[in-house]
Amino acid sequence: MSAEEIKTTYPFYHLDDIIAGNHNLIDKGYFDGNTLFDWWKRSAREKGVEYLTNEVIAMTLNASGSQVESVTLATGELIACGTVVNASGPRAVRTSRMAGIEIPVEPRKRYTFIFDAETPLKGDLPLTIDPSGVHMRTDGAYYLAGCPPDDDPPVDYDNFVQDHSIWEEKAGPAIAHRIPQFEAIKLINSWAGHYAYNTFDQNAILGPHTTVRNFIFVNGFSGHGFQQSPAMGRGTAELIVFGEYRSLDLSPFNYTRIENNLPFTEDAVI
Ligand SMILES: Cc1cc2nc3c(=O)[nH]c(=O)nc-3n(C[C@H](O)[C@H](O)[C@H](O)COP(=O)(O)OP(=O)(O)OC[C@H]3O[C@@H](n4cnc5c(N)ncnc54)[C@H](O)[C@@H]3O)c2cc1C
Repeated sequence: MSAEEIKTTYPFYHLDDIIAGNHNLIDKGYFDGNTLFDWWKRSAREKGVEYLTNEVIAMTLNASGSQVESVTLATGELIACGTVVNASGPRAVRTSRMAGIEIPVEPRKRYTFIFDAETPLKGDLPLTIDPSGVHMRTDGAYYLAGCPPDDDPPVDYDNFVQDHSIWEEKAGPAIAHRIPQFEAIKLINSWAGHYAYNTFDQNAILGPHTTVRNFIFVNGFSGHGFQQSPAMGRGTAELIVFGEYRSLDLSPFNYTRIENNLPFTEDAVI
């Protein structure tokens, strides 16, 4: 959409510094991640999946290093395994190192803010990705915004400390600049989370390792893992059961591209 087209449909934006925008109206929406995750977990239990509340702290490989034979839990038990799936989010490399494998994934902090507006918009605010790097949208009765910090180093796995200057100096001003009606807004809630950031090409890493053949990656989602997770989960299940992808060819995401230094770059990361 040109700036004029945006202005006609969404008159609340300040557009003097905008040339054009991109908006998809087909199958667009948002969902509550916790509810969806909970539902999947319950469905999996009903189908016989067993969940253990524990931590994997080590892995034992066979003599040739081609198979993980067992994983060791923090409570001391050993679990023999046909296949190991590394689905450990921001801790991906911590887990892969247990099998002697390096992958380019690190925890990077991302900030989320829930805010109320003194003068709310008449309709919903579509997901708006501002050139400043701040994104925002309607979130139930309120609005949600988020952004990366300007300085974006890897952080400790347990570091979820909020940095309030990001709201005051970056997100708040960017929101008020883009939507002048949002000059009077009140922060309701905020938190910091971790992206499992793939420093190589910001895309998912899937499939088996080249040497440790029963070690499968589902890693490196770089902030877009939830929307991809139904496909990634089904594809990985097919790989384990049939030895191949059947519903969708997910091979462009294969781990081999990391070893072969062939990036499959995801540019649309917010
Ligand atoms: C602020 C923020 C906003 C986001 N917004 C979006 C969005 O709009 N759309 C989208 O698609 N995605 C979004 N994401 C990304 C999405 O949340 C992640 O990609 C997704 O949750 C990753 O799922 P996962 O199962 O790979 O990892 P996680 O959900 O991190 O799960 C990993 C699990 O592994 C466990 N674990 C780790 N190590 C061990 C161990 N040694 N032993 C046992 N268990 C272990 C952890 O406890 C955890 O339960 C966002 C992320 C953040 C932080």
